[in-house]
Amino acid sequence: MKKNFKGLTQDELTRFFEELGQKPYRCKQVLNWLYKKSAASFDEMTDLPADLREVLNRTAYISNLDLLQTQASSDGTLKFLFGLEDGESIESVLIPNVRGGNKFTLCISSQVGCALGCAFCATGRLGIRRSLRSYEIADQVTAVGRIVKSLSASPAGEGRKGLDPHKDDREISNIVFMGMGEPLNNFRNVVVALRIFTELMGFSKRKIAVSTAGVVPKIYELAEKAPEVNLAVSLNATTDEIRNKIMPVNRIYPLKDLMKACREYPLSPRRRITFEYVLFDGINDSEEDALRLIKLLRGIRSIVNLIPYNPSSPCLQNTLMLRTPSEKKILQFQSVLHKAGVIAIIRKSMGSDISAACGQLKAGYAVNSEQ
Ligand code: SF4
Repeated sequence: MKKNFKGLTQDELTRFFEELGQKPYRCKQVLNWLYKKSAASFDEMTDLPADLREVLNRTAYISNLDLLQTQASSDGTLKFLFGLEDGESIESVLIPNVRGGNKFTLCISSQVGCALGCAFCATGRLGIRRSLRSYEIADQVTAVGRIVKSLSASPAGEGRKGLDPHKDDREISNIVFMGMGEPLNNFRNVVVALRIFTELMGFSKRKIAVSTAGVVPKIYELAEKAPEVNLAVSLNATTDEIRNKIMPVNRIYPLKDLMKACREYPLSPRRRITFEYVLFDGINDSEEDALRLIKLLRGIRSIVNLIPYNPSSPCLQNTLMLRTPSEKKILQFQSVLHKAGVIAIIRKSMGSDISAACGQLKAGYAVNSEQ
C-alpha cells in the first residue's frame, strides 16, 4: 500500500529515505517542497532526480484537500469548503488583515463538527463526526496558501480592498484555530500541526492562536506542549448560570476553574490572552455583566474581543431566542470595560453574507432546527 507522506512523522520520513538508500538531505528537500513550497505532487519536486521521483510515485502519495467550493464575501473574506479522503468536509476562512495590504489571516478547522454544542454555533449543531488528522489541519494552510498566491489572477481577488495585485508578497500571515471544532478536544493532532506550522512552514508562534471554549485541563497542557502560542478563550458569559445555557462545556469546567487556568497560563512579556465575548441582546450585555467581566479578568493580562451576535440562519434560532444587541448597548458595554482599563475591541464580523463569520460554519451539512 502506498504511504501518505503527510501522515508520516519526520522520523518516519527519514527512515523511509534511509530504507531507499537515499542521503538524509533528500528527506529535507521533500519536507521543504511539501511545507514551504506547498507542492501537491512529487513531479513538482524538480530538484529530485527523475528516478527518485518515479520511485516515490510508485511507493507513496501526497494527500491533498479537495477544494469543493469557494465563496467570496463582499468584504473580501473567502470561505473554502474542502472534501476529505473519507468523504467528510470542513471549512476554512481567509480574512484580509485589518490594515489591508497583501496579508491574510486563515481561520482553520480542527474537527468535523464539534461535541461541545454551544447554543450560538452552527458547527455545534452538527455534533462531532470526527477529529482531523494533523496533516488535514496543516493542509488547510498549504491549500489556501497556494490560492492566496494566485489571488490577483482570480475573479475573487480582483478589486479586493487593499489587495495590491502588482506586489508578489501575498501570504497568510496569521493562523487561528477558530473554525469548526474544539481544538483542545483534538489535542494531539493540533500539537503536531502546530509543530508543522512553526518548524516546517516557518510561522512564528506569535502569529498563531488556539481558541478554546474552555477545556480546562488541556489549557494547562497547551502551556507545556506549545508554549508561546497565543491562547484565545471563548468566554461569552459572566455567570455559570448563563454560561451553562449557552456553552454546555461550562457544566464540566465552570468559570472559576476556567479563569484560574487563564490566570496561571504562562505569558511572555507583552503577551495577552484574548477573550472572545459574543454579545447577545438581554442575555449577557448588561452593565452588571460588564462589571462582572472586569472582576473575572482581574489579574489576567487580557484583551477582550466584543463580537455582536451573528444570527447564523433562521433554523438555528433556538429556545434562547438569541438576538444581536443594539449598537448603543454594545458601545455602552465597551465603555464600562474601558473605564476600568480593560482593553475591549468591537470586532466587525467578517464574511457573514457567506456564513463564514464566527459560529456560522457547517461545511454544507444539514443541522437540526431544534436542540
Ligand atoms: S463555538 Fe467552538 S466549541 Fe462551541 S460548538 Fe462551536 S465549534 Fe464547538
